[in-house]
Amino acid sequence: MFIDFETFRARADKLRGLMQDACRAAGRDPASVKLLPVTKTHPPAAAEYVVRYGLPAVGENRVQEAVDKRAAVGDALRWELIGHLQSNKAKLAAAHFDRIQSVDSEKLVKHLARSASDQGKVLPVLLQINAGNDPAKFGAEPEDAPRLLETALAQPSLRVEGLMTIAPLGATPDETKAHARRTFANLRRIRDDLAARCAVPLPELSMGMTGDFADAIAEGSTIIRVGTALFGPRE
Ligand SMILES: *Cc1c(COP(=O)(O)O)cnc(C)c1O
Repeated sequence: MFIDFETFRARADKLRGLMQDACRAAGRDPASVKLLPVTKTHPPAAAEYVVRYGLPAVGENRVQEAVDKRAAVGDALRWELIGHLQSNKAKLAAAHFDRIQSVDSEKLVKHLARSASDQGKVLPVLLQINAGNDPAKFGAEPEDAPRLLETALAQPSLRVEGLMTIAPLGATPDETKAHARRTFANLRRIRDDLAARCAVPLPELSMGMTGDFADAIAEGSTIIRVGTALFGPRE
């Protein structure tokens, strides 16, 4: 059985306390880090809890799952895509998501731009970068990031708001933590370089999940994407 709302509320309160602690330790304003609950694999009730708790958005990693859930939950939330997107699903994704965090190729940029333009909208996006050089992870390679950004900035129907990454796992908890710090510091450096080179702000850094959000906040994250700590383990 899925958790009840009181369980969710207690976990969300605790998580927000830990976020504030991490912000204080890093000398950051707690208002500068947003919590994006990740509802993937969980029932529509997960998204309903997020509305009731008063948070504005959820993250999903599959297009069709999110389309179905959004139809059940309604438009009280913004829906963000955080999982890999194939170009042939760009049209559906552009129609149903309020922001796409997983834009990782020029081909996808062009498909999304055409779909958003056809739909008469400007679609917010983040560029996903493989900042941890993880061979198993999606995301554009750091050396390809400047071209990807230039291509995205050239699309009037897209608005590039920042970057996203996922840290690679290590063989041990210590190694995982070291990878996370290195990956998040690297993404911030890549953002600073790109912002200077292209003279755009790129304010959002989407980095940090259940296991590594405190490290991500220490390295400048503005969006943490958290599933397990809020909703429990996935099947
Ligand atoms: C599932 C997922 C998350 C949430 O992971 P947890 O460890 O459950 O917090 C965050 N980001 C992405 C891209 C995901 O796919």
